[in-house]
Amino acid sequence: MALKLIVTGGAGYVGSVCTAKLLEAGHEVVVVDDLSTGHADAVPDGARLVEGDAADATASLLGEGFDGVLHFAAKSLVGESMSDPGKYWHGNVVTAIRLLDAMREHGTPRLVFSSTAATYGEPESSPIRETAPTRPTNTYGASKLAIDHAITSYARAHGLAAVSLRYFNVAGAYGQYGERHTTETHLIPLVLQVATGDREQVQIFGEDYPTEDGTAVRDYIHVADLADAHLLALQHAAAGEHRIYNLGNGTGFSVRQVIETCRQVTGHEIPAAVAPRRAGDPAVLVAASDRAREDLGWKPERADLHGIVSDAWRFTQQRRAA
Ligand code: UDP
Repeated sequence: MALKLIVTGGAGYVGSVCTAKLLEAGHEVVVVDDLSTGHADAVPDGARLVEGDAADATASLLGEGFDGVLHFAAKSLVGESMSDPGKYWHGNVVTAIRLLDAMREHGTPRLVFSSTAATYGEPESSPIRETAPTRPTNTYGASKLAIDHAITSYARAHGLAAVSLRYFNVAGAYGQYGERHTTETHLIPLVLQVATGDREQVQIFGEDYPTEDGTAVRDYIHVADLADAHLLALQHAAAGEHRIYNLGNGTGFSVRQVIETCRQVTGHEIPAAVAPRRAGDPAVLVAASDRAREDLGWKPERADLHGIVSDAWRFTQQRRAA
């Protein structure tokens, strides 16, 4: 069934890929984005772009009658969340609550929310299930967890059909849509910047973790597989329920393994230097995504790290040539 949807943050990395996939599936999409970190030219053709605040602009559109909202717009820099927490409590939490209120007022039935593995903090066991304790180690994760709690109570009280998707490490690109952050902090795009010559070397944040090679381990998931989960979440969302799903491949790769894969993909030597640990970084974050597989029928199709990095590299080269 074709749905009429609002995608907040649809000019950003994950939001633009999801928008492209929603349009391909025949849905109608209005993107709401303030373009603070997103790019107008990243909004897929076929989606209408409304420039504005995720809560205010969405509130004024909802009267047109929408079947649901996918809420991607957020502040997402861990370091900044520690130095400027107000930006995260207001920008993420207050905005989300105002959005929930607007949806309630207009009777908008469905919400899919971008949550994060950062809601769990330092895990007690691995892989991480949705039943694991949530003890975020940074304000970014705390702000996303607070929103998850708000969604649970709005769903129960007001009949909203809601799904939160907890992303592990999103990477790769889909067609012309990929990662274009002005302030880049993520490992794979930073390593690829060394391969293009835009950066001299990559820093390895910590070599003294209790892992096989001493560097931190993460679960990298292809952005297109992640987007597919959003489409399935929209289909499976049930009125009055808030479901939470982890999205990852269930396999961890160390920082050194990621750099090595980037060397193989790009053919560049990619010099690396060991630096101190980054504050708040857990040693290992790997997802158990059985719940998403069982309930949603989600099956990641691009789990291979070489393929994920190859897609990111193709996108990086394509952007440079443009
Ligand atoms: N990392 C690194 N050097 C960098 C950027 C990241 O060693 O220049 C490490 C970081 O400490 C973490 C992993 O790479 O262990 C993934 O970091 P990223 O910022 O990509 O994602 P996060 O896991 O923080 O969401």
